[in-house]
Amino acid sequence: MRIVFLGPPGAGKGTQANRLMADLGVPHLSTGELLREAVRLHKPLGLQAKAFLDAGRLVPDSVVLELAEQRLRQDDCRRGWLLDGFPRTVAQAEGFDQMLQAAGGRLDMVIDVEVDRETLEARLLSRGRSDDSPELIRKRLHEYYELTRPLTDYYRQRGLLRAVSGIGTLDEVLTRIRNVLSADVQLSDRAGR
Ligand code: AMP
Repeated sequence: MRIVFLGPPGAGKGTQANRLMADLGVPHLSTGELLREAVRLHKPLGLQAKAFLDAGRLVPDSVVLELAEQRLRQDDCRRGWLLDGFPRTVAQAEGFDQMLQAAGGRLDMVIDVEVDRETLEARLLSRGRSDDSPELIRKRLHEYYELTRPLTDYYRQRGLLRAVSGIGTLDEVLTRIRNVLSADVQLSDRAGR
């Protein structure tokens, strides 16, 4: 299964992807976590990314594409993955398409976890990660609506987008995602794929 989790910061993508990892037997990859790790380990990629992370801005596409390509080339990704936080711009999605094509793979679906802005702000403020100051939260949400939100159209046009409400308990949202996944599997079984 090759799945991208789209949706704003605070939508619960990471938590849900983590819980689905066991169901699907593929790794959950978060570019946010990979970037924070690269910073912690003083890797060259981390040095390039740090100022952007600290400012609540998106890291440049070239840096993230390189990071994603390195990670997706590893052995544990051969059977698929759950991507959380990548791609986040149309340029990244285009680069990612090229990457997949070159590797002879394809994306199965994009799950858009939808949460309204007020709920997101409240959630992010109560989550209390070090990059979650009110000002940074506003910046990250702004970046999302400006740069990432257009990706819903990009993937809708390609027939890959599945929207799921991210409002409710973690279990409720997980059930919705599982329903979407099993509906798709049944459809592709019927199509004899
Ligand atoms: P996250 O943990 O997904 O909320 O990401 C935390 C931060 O990492 C974001 O605010 C960005 O600065 C950076 N980041 C993560 N993924 C990407 C990406 N695909 N493109 C650009 N920046 C990213």
